[in-house]
Amino acid sequence: MTIPRTFFDIQNKARDVNRRTLLKGAAALAATGATMQAASAAAVAPLGQTGAPTTDTQPLPLGPLQGGRYPDSHLESMKKPKAPSFGPTGFPAFAGTMAVERVATGFRWAEGPVYFPAGRYVLFSDIPNNRIMRFCEDDGHLSVYRQPSMNSNGNTIDREGRLITCEHAGRRVTRTELDGSITVIADKYNGKRLNSPNDAVVASDGSIWFTDPIYGIGGYYEGIKAEPEQEKHNVYRVDPKSGDIKVVVDDFVEPNGIAFSPDEKKLYVIDTGFTDGPDNPSHIRVFDVDHAAGKLSNSKVFADMPKPSITDGVRTDTAGRVWLSVGWGDPNEDGVRCYTAEGDLLGKIHIPETVANLCFGGQQRNRLYICGSTSLYAVYTSAQGALKP
Ligand code: MG
Repeated sequence: MTIPRTFFDIQNKARDVNRRTLLKGAAALAATGATMQAASAAAVAPLGQTGAPTTDTQPLPLGPLQGGRYPDSHLESMKKPKAPSFGPTGFPAFAGTMAVERVATGFRWAEGPVYFPAGRYVLFSDIPNNRIMRFCEDDGHLSVYRQPSMNSNGNTIDREGRLITCEHAGRRVTRTELDGSITVIADKYNGKRLNSPNDAVVASDGSIWFTDPIYGIGGYYEGIKAEPEQEKHNVYRVDPKSGDIKVVVDDFVEPNGIAFSPDEKKLYVIDTGFTDGPDNPSHIRVFDVDHAAGKLSNSKVFADMPKPSITDGVRTDTAGRVWLSVGWGDPNEDGVRCYTAEGDLLGKIHIPETVANLCFGGQQRNRLYICGSTSLYAVYTSAQGALKP
């Protein structure tokens, strides 16, 4: 079994993030695992666990990516000044000594990060390994939060500080209550099972919006192979009072990452349909939101990706800027893109792996956590994440 490592393992050899710790953690998590199995026994068997973590002998190095020299060349501004300037001028991820760090590694496919301010930790899915990991930012401790995770994908946090999780193998959206029990939020629409919920976001009114592509039922690697029961790959809204689930948009090829603007007047939804065919979209759309009616309107393409790259995850900041993951195409485009609310590209964060998703964290919500394939990256920015749990 490979032991995921963190930046702090390198800094402090005495730190006990090792096999014993993880095994102890796994034992301590038995109750959680049992809860999950009990909750899912009626619906899912087997659990679809790939269950053989990577056997890397030379884990990727942790710490700053570029060896510690400022300015970090991984931060690129699209504004090219005519005269020499200090750092990547105009890019909101730069204030002199900000640099991209690899803070943990050893995963197969890191996805769906969410930050919990009360505990100062990041949860993220390692989908093929069927687990949710937890990275504590105060001391760099890394552990397994939940395994099996039902091949969880996207995670988010609601306004009461509870974890919302999209499950491939469970084909459902769940909420982890403050006592640790798990509530199923959505697993069917029109009496038929969902495809495989991918990513979710919670509005101020408590409504839960999520995407439902078919990636999690295409095979046994990231879920359990099954025929889709839904005719379309929809975006849904779960009503906070009634629990009713309704389709808010049904013309996506593969809806994926989802986020509100900071004022919640706009909803951004990614379409990764390009994975299904070269003529399909690789872009993100933006909608106007009517929260009282629970409806979307005025669909527009917000930004196209340079195929064959796709964007998978999206977050916004308090200034309304839009931060997108980029991966799967030109390695020079791997990383994060930052746009103005009007759709102008401001800058790029270059990451040496395909990037799936991202979230803002830190006590000031100014630290961007980036799930990049086998590793978790982090960089302080001059922005603050929009989401207020
Ligand atoms: Mg996704």
